Amino acid sequence: MIGFATPLLALTAALALPSLTVAQSWQDHANSTDPTFECTAYSFAPVVAMVSSYVGSTIWQIATLQTADSDAVALFNSLNSTIPKINPKGTPAGDFSNTTPTYPASDPDCWWSWHQCTTPKISGIPTDITRCPTPNTWGLTVDDGPNCSHNAYYDYLNTINQKATFFFIGSNVMDWPLEAQRGLAEGHEICAHTWSHRYMTALTNEQAFAELYFSKKAIKDVVGITPQCWRPPYGDVDDRIRYIAQALGMQTVIWVEDTKDWQYPTLNQSVIDTNYQNIITKAQNGTYNNAGILVLNHELNNFTMSEQTTWLPKIQAAFKYVTPLAVCNNNTNPYVEQGWTYPVRLLHSSPSPRSQLTSAVTL
Ligand SMILES: [Zn+2]
Repeated sequence: MIGFATPLLALTAALALPSLTVAQSWQDHANSTDPTFECTAYSFAPVVAMVSSYVGSTIWQIATLQTADSDAVALFNSLNSTIPKINPKGTPAGDFSNTTPTYPASDPDCWWSWHQCTTPKISGIPTDITRCPTPNTWGLTVDDGPNCSHNAYYDYLNTINQKATFFFIGSNVMDWPLEAQRGLAEGHEICAHTWSHRYMTALTNEQAFAELYFSKKAIKDVVGITPQCWRPPYGDVDDRIRYIAQALGMQTVIWVEDTKDWQYPTLNQSVIDTNYQNIITKAQNGTYNNAGILVLNHELNNFTMSEQTTWLPKIQAAFKYVTPLAVCNNNTNPYVEQGWTYPVRLLHSSPSPRSQLTSAVTL
């Protein structure tokens, strides 16, 4: 893993291994499925050049505005007084024992971690996206990437012509920029998943703003597009955090079905397989005949990725459509930048795509 403070060390480590070369394009890295090579830290010149503007937001640390980025500071200062007066909850590691004993049962903050609230109590904040409106659709949403050893998984998605929505963590984008670029280049949709993957409701206004701002900025600077969607780590969001996200032009996205792949190995594989099968069985039973679903999957580790390669053929057989978030919500402009075109069609369908969904992918 490369940190801002250690690009030269990372480069030296890479050069010390004569069999390794320092790739400078995503295609170079996409050619390897050797996890040792894939996960060898490298120094990527454009990322090194970004360091000066990210001062204060060290990768994998909670983002801050103690930075030379005057744009971020000015934007936060213009926003701060309007942010809903909701106190931070618990700790950034997810210990809410200081909050839950006294938190009102009425859930005044629409706190997802409490009772999965997705309809804000404060007016003017959009309801979270949790579903695919199109019936019998599996919205393929994959969190926590880019993972350094994802090439076999991404290769597999290509072989079955399947596109996904990837919720990238800003710190992972800075660690593995070529892998992040591959995601967009191959036609997947990119959303943000914060800078350091903490429980967002625990953070101060400034920290929460910085987590969203710098994850969005990292994706723009490395991948080239400005995402307009984000998913809170662990689903932990309330109206204060939703408000900040909206002010930064980012729609909050949750899910309605969870494979719980992220709990492996605490949960063993048979439990996670059962979760996949249960969602498929519900599709076969007509549960999603009126509206499709967003499903929580992960790029977190080789297990979560290989599970998807095992189950995707069964998912494609059971659901009429398997699509990214933007496609199933008929969102033809997923990024701030207009006119973005994908190199291949986004839609997998069985047996054939509907015309109105096909039109959604001609951006
Ligand atoms: Zn996550």
